[in-house]
Amino acid sequence: MRARTIEPGGKQRPAGPAFEYQYLAPESPALQPIYTRVREADLLHRLPAVQQIDGMFQLPRPLRYVTAECGEFGAFYVPETTRIVLCYETLRTLYERGQMQHKAGGLDPDYPLRYTRANVRFIVLHETGHALVDLLDLPVTGRQEDAVDQLAAMLMLHFSGVDESPEQVIESLRMAANWLLTRSTGAYDLDAYADEHALGEQRYFNLQCLIFGTDPVRYAEIVTAGDLTPARAKACPRETRQVGRAWLRLLLPHLAPKYEMTEAEAIRYFERR
Ligand SMILES: [Zn+2]
Repeated sequence: MRARTIEPGGKQRPAGPAFEYQYLAPESPALQPIYTRVREADLLHRLPAVQQIDGMFQLPRPLRYVTAECGEFGAFYVPETTRIVLCYETLRTLYERGQMQHKAGGLDPDYPLRYTRANVRFIVLHETGHALVDLLDLPVTGRQEDAVDQLAAMLMLHFSGVDESPEQVIESLRMAANWLLTRSTGAYDLDAYADEHALGEQRYFNLQCLIFGTDPVRYAEIVTAGDLTPARAKACPRETRQVGRAWLRLLLPHLAPKYEMTEAEAIRYFERR
């Protein structure tokens, strides 16, 4: 699967406001090496999907992606400043988690980096979902957290990196699912039940369902390996199609002229894999 250029409206027609990208210097000396690496690698310009949807939407204000020291683990969308903030602390935690898994068993040496990249990709797309809901005033029924998890998964599945194989995309998405699972504290109490996010385990299975639903034959192993129950798996192809169509319909009216397309054209682009 190659990165696709989609310009059905034509090259001459205007794109929407471009995203902006910024690497803020941290004050903490401990985060300096991460800041240097992220800036040198130009991480934000190398996130598939974010790059492909840059300029695609008729946003009322430009959206800025920022890496910064936050004082805690996290990533968030700030409506007041129209910024998506990815914390250096998050990069550090993800890398450490990747290292722990690497040490625990037989994984290749670049696993921690791949794990970090995969999760950064999912996290940033999840926050992009919050930003689009806000900026485009999109209707959401149900929990917004679930809806933007779905969007992040769809964007990852449909906008791969240059020369990235479908298997690599799925691997990244499964690493993101794994991270959601490892974040679960296992402590089920009123706070967990009342949280705006579903339980880590539920977010994990929801992602597995969306992956499985794209191609039940190819990903049959997700069920045989116990990463999805057969009962849930049955409905996943329909669920995946429904989620994809819903997001397509929500976003189509907001495409910039350069990217304008009909629903039929969009389905041809995005449901062909
Ligand atoms: Zn969220």
